Formats: sequence, structure tokens, C-alpha cells
Amino acid sequence: MEIITKINQWISDAKSDAQEARSEAELFDLEKKYLGRKNGLLTNVLKSIKELSDSEKKVVGPRANEVKKEILTIINNQRKQLQEKQSQSTKTIDVTLPGKKIVSGHLHPLTIVQNDIVDIFTRMGFDIADGPEVESEWYNFDAVNVPDNHPGRDMQDTFWLRAEKGKKQSLLRTQTSAVQVRYMEKHTPPFHVIVPGRIFRHEATDASHEHTFHQFEALMVGNDISVANCKHVVSVFFSQFFKKDVEIRLRPGFFPFVEPGFEFDISCTVCDAKGCSVCKQAGWLEIGGAGMVHQNVFGASGYEKGKYQGFAWGFGLERLAMMKYNIDDVRLFHSGDLRFINQFR
Ligand SMILES: [Zn+2]
Repeated sequence: MEIITKINQWISDAKSDAQEARSEAELFDLEKKYLGRKNGLLTNVLKSIKELSDSEKKVVGPRANEVKKEILTIINNQRKQLQEKQSQSTKTIDVTLPGKKIVSGHLHPLTIVQNDIVDIFTRMGFDIADGPEVESEWYNFDAVNVPDNHPGRDMQDTFWLRAEKGKKQSLLRTQTSAVQVRYMEKHTPPFHVIVPGRIFRHEATDASHEHTFHQFEALMVGNDISVANCKHVVSVFFSQFFKKDVEIRLRPGFFPFVEPGFEFDISCTVCDAKGCSVCKQAGWLEIGGAGMVHQNVFGASGYEKGKYQGFAWGFGLERLAMMKYNIDDVRLFHSGDLRFINQFR
């Protein structure tokens, strides 16, 4: 009988198809092809059995059911094999292979440098102080002896904030010196403290100027603190910061909050004072302003004028970071450029 030959053939067809199947989805399709409720090959044969003669029915019906069972067994066996293979491959994972790397955050270079600075001064016994970034004109200018007509107070240099009616205008602090009088109002000498912090200047930016940058202020006050103490502390700090001997040079300079005042230079750490592009062949690098605290600043803090003496400085933090890491553009620090930032992992 033609139909019997056909359904017998399906057994060997199903067998070879099942062996070739590489996934359970393929096996599912195969099952559908022969046994699916809609248009499954064997299902159709069984459905159309009523159209056959009685003698044909007796042969075709039972045989079709047998073939159906056989094909189901073939498919189920193959499914089992696939599942076993899969579980074996999970069992044989090589645990010595390196894992996927998890990307973790890290510190910004300025934070790294600030932490270094704080560590060094903490070891020297300095306190660390902090102050507000939105500051009053009093603490930022008046209290530290900056005269009314000083150009630093100008709109050109300072970010002034809009004042509420009847209130004094505040500003974004232009220097960490703003914290000096705040600190001295609450402490009595002798003390030594550094104030790292962010400051703001209303100015055009270029490779060496930013509108937002960082300073660290130092303030050491007692009965007999002198320029020699200042020089010593600065030279110990720089030698530890750059991990090599650094020469110090003082030049006269004017800053309203100190008297006498001076500019600090250190020997170029890039070329070891031989002369290079960073130090413009001079062998020296300008670090910032310093001096002996003006008695007017002590007066503004509520101290008796003439009773104490001390030194203060405001050094730029970016400058030091640029020297330490050989960075040639200050704007990179706040650029948010991950190609730059991720070098400091
Ligand atoms: Zn140099």
C-alpha cells in the first residue's frame, strides 16, 4: 500500500532530521512537522482515515499510530541528548580563565594631589580647615585687608551673586584667604592650619588660566613665627611632594594681606633647574604668593594688633598637579574628557 510505504519512510526521515538538529527549537519544529495538531503529516493521515475503505483502515490506522509513537520517541531521545551535552559544557567551565573586568570609579587627579598635600601637612602637625565657596565681601576682601578700590573686587575679576533686597551682595570666593579670618575668629594662636579649596575668578580661559581652580592656603601663627619658619615648611613640603630635593627662592611681592610679601619660586622639577620649556629655560617656577600676615588681618580677627606674628600663603593646586603629571593645559582638569581622566586610575 502506497500510504504505508510513505509513513514508514517518515521514520527514517525523522531520525536523520533529529540527528542533525542542533537545538531544542529545531526539534520542536520537527515535532510540529510530523505531529502538529494543524497540518502535521501524521495528524493529517489519521484525520483522513475515514475516507479509506474498511480493509485499508484496519492496516493504516494502527500503523500510523505506531509510527507516531516511534517518531515521538526519536525526537524525545534526541532532546535528552542535547540537554545532557549542554549541562556537560556548563560543568566543564574553566574557572582559571580571567573574569570579566568590572569598571570601577577612581579619583580625579586634583583630588589625588589634594589628598597628597593634606597627608604631608597632617604629618607635619597641621590642622585642615574648610570654608564656604559662596562668601561675603567681608571675609573675601575687607577682612584680609584688600582696599575698597582694589581691582580684584571689580566685576571683571569676581563672580558677584545677585543679592536679595536689603541684603549685602555675596560672591564666589576668589581666594582661600577668605577662610583665614573665619578660622582665626574661632582659634587662639599658636596654631598652624592649611585650607585646601575651590576658588573662582571671572576671567578668560586659556592653557594656563581657568575660571574655577583650587588653592591651598597655609596659616601659621604664634608669638615668634618668622619667614625662616615659612621657608622651612615650604621646602619640606615640596621635597616630600615631588619626592626629591627642591630649591626655594623668595622674591619681593605685594599682596594686601601680608607685610612683607613675597613670591615663591621653586627649582624646576621637570628639568632639575637646567632649563626646559615648562620653566621657559629659567630653571625656576612660580608657585604663588606668601608673606607675613598683615596686622590688619589679625585686627579683623579680633586679635590685639602687634601681639602675634605668622605667615600665610595661597598656592595653586592645579599648577602642582600639572608639574607632577606633566600636564600642559589646565583646562583638561574640568573638561570631563575621560581619555584624560582615565589615565589616573
Ligand atoms: Zn625646567
